[in-house]
Amino acid sequence: GAKEPIQIGTLLHNTYTLLQSEANLKGIQIELRLPDTDPFLTANTNSLKQVLINLARNAMEAMSEVGGGLLTLSLEETPDGVCLLVQDTGPGIQPEHLARIFSPFYTTKHTGTGLGLFISKKIIEEHNGTLQVTTELGVGTAFRILLPS
Ligand code: ADP
Ligand code: MG
Repeated sequence: GAKEPIQIGTLLHNTYTLLQSEANLKGIQIELRLPDTDPFLTANTNSLKQVLINLARNAMEAMSEVGGGLLTLSLEETPDGVCLLVQDTGPGIQPEHLARIFSPFYTTKHTGTGLGLFISKKIIEEHNGTLQVTTELGVGTAFRILLPS
């Protein structure tokens, strides 16, 4: 999609608002951590919003399996752009699954499409950024989006 200057803190805040009721229904708490500044990026709003929603939905689905938890959405400024973090207190990802989660159609869900992470990674790469994951079994998972300004 077409890129234009957007304020990334505002985008994260809008996503947070959009996810509130869905989280409440699943016994999930959402925390939003924003810096004092609202930095500009050249990006496609709808695409980035789609990525954040994909990551947050995955996090909420994972936490549902363990009866709820905390979803943290954060924005940090980096020397050459921003870092967006989508962090959950879900079950974590097993090593044998971890290697495949970004592959198209790879899902561990009965009704999953397995396309969410594949598409998300593509969108971030179209923004010259990177999408990374860290996970610990029984503790949770964090997806980190690094975007250059
Ligand atoms: P889908 O959600 O349709 O399964 P995705 O591409 O969004 O497809 O995710 C692929 C797989 O990655 C999921 O089926 C799940 O096994 C794993 N996964 C993604 N995010 C998380 C998370 N936050 N916690 C645990 N597992 C996750
Ligand atoms: Mg998904």
